[in-house]
Amino acid sequence: MGIARVERVEIPRSHPRYESLVIRERLVEGLESGVVVPQGLIAHGRGECFDYLLGEKTTEPALRAMRAAAAALLLARHPVVSVNGNVAALVPGEVVRLARAVNARVEVNLFYRSEERVRKIAEVLRAHGAQEVLGVDDATATIPELFSERRRVSPRGIYAADVVLVALEDGDRTEALRRMGKTVVAIDLNPLSRTSLAASITIVDNVVRAMPKLAELAETMRSEPEESLRRILESYDNSEVLSDVLRYIEARLRELSEGIRGKVWSPGSP
Ligand code: ATP
Ligand code: MG
Repeated sequence: MGIARVERVEIPRSHPRYESLVIRERLVEGLESGVVVPQGLIAHGRGECFDYLLGEKTTEPALRAMRAAAAALLLARHPVVSVNGNVAALVPGEVVRLARAVNARVEVNLFYRSEERVRKIAEVLRAHGAQEVLGVDDATATIPELFSERRRVSPRGIYAADVVLVALEDGDRTEALRRMGKTVVAIDLNPLSRTSLAASITIVDNVVRAMPKLAELAETMRSEPEESLRRILESYDNSEVLSDVLRYIEARLRELSEGIRGKVWSPGSP
């Protein structure tokens, strides 16, 4: 695909949107190296909008979802972490770290599949320490009722999994995985996306913050007795978490709307 080289910009550390701009640069690099597709940039923009509303930090309901997610992954017989282009560009090391902590397999699964891109993503994951990457030469099974290339999965990976972690996932595929009886953990900044509504456990947070936090939680929680992990899972209520995220945004917007006068810029502002 002929994508023109984009000029590199130096982002000063003092820039108020530093973090967010650095993430954008990483995605642009991913685009240039063939890991990310242009549609991935648009998906990221949609996510950023919700991150703005959340205040670009991990909320309490997101943490609650992460604890349940860590419990589900640790209790799983056959957990799989599904990786797409954006995830590989943003958090490859954290994916490998999480998979190690919960004994999960890692599988490349793309909406816009090309063999070349699958191979590139697998390479990135291997460079970050992944021993085995599924979905490269073995995407021979199919998820029923799905028509995109995303239905092609590894029979040893997503097809056989009981718990699948997805990030920036499409709603149709999340629903199809649920219909197959799988527990789906989703990381998605939009609490209203079809994925968020269809997942068993929805972590409404930026994958850049959620993946390392989830890996850290899994590393700590793996020494907890199975019984206490089960209790965390049994008491978990995803609709309550989604509702609490929306309330969090509501309260935040109300607070901001009340203080907006003091925030409006004028030529005399510092
Ligand atoms: P759905 O198909 O679930 O209704 P959608 O069609 O609105 O979702 P997609 O492009 O299919 O959106 O999926 C991308 C999703 O990933 C969006 O919900 C977006 O908010 C989310 N997203 C984008 N960037 C990030 C990120 N960095 N961290 C977490 N979520 C993100
Ligand atoms: Mg979609």
